[in-house]
Amino acid sequence: MTDHQVYGRIDGHIVMIGFGSIGKGTLPLIQRHFDYDTDKFSVIDPDPNSAAFLADAGITYHQVALTPENYREVLRARFPDGKGFCVNLSVDTSSLDLMKFCRELGVLYIDTVVEPWAGFYFDTTDNAARTNYALRQAVRDEKAANPGGTTAVSCCGANPGMVSWFVKEGLMTLVRDLGRDDPIPQDRGGWGKLMQSLGVKGVHIAERDTQARDKPRPRDVFVNTWSVEGFIAEGFQPAELGWGTHETWMPDNAHGHEAGCQAAIWMERPGAITRVHTWCPTPGPQFGFLVTHNESISIADYFTVGDPAAPEFRPTCHYAYHPCDDAVLSLHEMFGSGVQQQVHEIMDVDEIVEGIDELGVLLYGHEKNALWFGSRLSNDETKALAPYQNATGLQVTSAVLAGMVWALENPEAGIVETDEMDHVRCLEVQTPYLGPVEAHYTDWTPLQDRWEHFPENLDHSDPWQFRNVLAT
Ligand code: NAD
Repeated sequence: MTDHQVYGRIDGHIVMIGFGSIGKGTLPLIQRHFDYDTDKFSVIDPDPNSAAFLADAGITYHQVALTPENYREVLRARFPDGKGFCVNLSVDTSSLDLMKFCRELGVLYIDTVVEPWAGFYFDTTDNAARTNYALRQAVRDEKAANPGGTTAVSCCGANPGMVSWFVKEGLMTLVRDLGRDDPIPQDRGGWGKLMQSLGVKGVHIAERDTQARDKPRPRDVFVNTWSVEGFIAEGFQPAELGWGTHETWMPDNAHGHEAGCQAAIWMERPGAITRVHTWCPTPGPQFGFLVTHNESISIADYFTVGDPAAPEFRPTCHYAYHPCDDAVLSLHEMFGSGVQQQVHEIMDVDEIVEGIDELGVLLYGHEKNALWFGSRLSNDETKALAPYQNATGLQVTSAVLAGMVWALENPEAGIVETDEMDHVRCLEVQTPYLGPVEAHYTDWTPLQDRWEHFPENLDHSDPWQFRNVLAT
């Protein structure tokens, strides 16, 4: 990629909060695709690791950790003219507080996850309070209380984020392949009705990361292809999933919610040791981990038809994540010992010797059984597309780019999730960075790849029941 399209001008200051693996990978995309005043770009991060790198790039660096006590003062000083863009790519900062304050200032805002202040994930034993449902609902409540106004894009990474656009693209692929001529729906109600009429029962966010380096994972080291801290935090949260209207059985350890959108349930078990049967193009059938994610709830909520408390239609939706093999071993070691590894390593683009991140959505239960639609970006291709990141990173950072373009083009849209954005425009911006974006049909169902020697309690009347998907 040499000719980089400039999508617009960012007036005022650009403040990036957090300069870890995703922040560093987002930087070159901002540099390529926006017009802005270079002396108005700054980074806030307590870790001075990248100070020299930022100085070389001519970017002002502020070594400070944002806290509930200081964030207003620090951010107000960074946006002296009340204009600009806040790009939040940190851990341990409250997305809700930061987006509220940016909207107060009149500054555009984007993040890739609803992140809480430090402590949320581990400081309470009240598992319902530690769910993504609770985190997301607080943002939805703020949207309802203060509709419209300056745009704040919530959860615009790969997943949550891009996968919501893939769900819509996958549905339109099904429309075409079933010989139908439905137009692209123009509102939320239309999308729900389309999914319902296509017979889709549910969605796996189905991912297989095969990136690997050539040295074996050392014992007592957690190795991953993106934030280890972020993955451990979400992996220890309860497993959660959007809960579809076709389900006839619920796990004994599952709970619903009384308040809010009521689109999801959670289980009394950490997501990173809750396995599900799923499917991706490279491995075919595989186990994934039912790690909680914002999109499991937002997609189920967005496509709900009828009264949220007693819906006519809602898809089941959950993450089914097979991280890179070193991360699987790291999880195994961590949950087995009950001790978090103190050494964390994020695989660098240059040490990865093989592999792709295959991240898509598996739309299942319809006339053509199941359709996987997603990005199959290799690390090798990533190197040619953009610096400072592996394939996993580029799927995230290119979604941040797309979300920033959309926000600049829609500066008064209020608080939005990616389900609520124009998926065609966003994918138009993002797709050049995604490698092969493909649709694959499969005749696989969760009833197929079972060990006959050990009979299980399955529901043979409907292969796509969660009862069959959940591994025992
Ligand atoms: P990382 O751990 O590499 O970097 C996080 C950075 O935040 C670090 O540099 C850290 O010093 C900084 N930080 C920590 N506390 C801070 C504070 N109080 N104030 C300001 N900065 C602080 O993580 P990453 O891989 O770059 O991920 C960043 C975020 O993106 C995480 O929240 C992660 O969950 C999210 N993420 C989302 C997706 C997605 O697809 N939606 C994918 C990957 C990561």
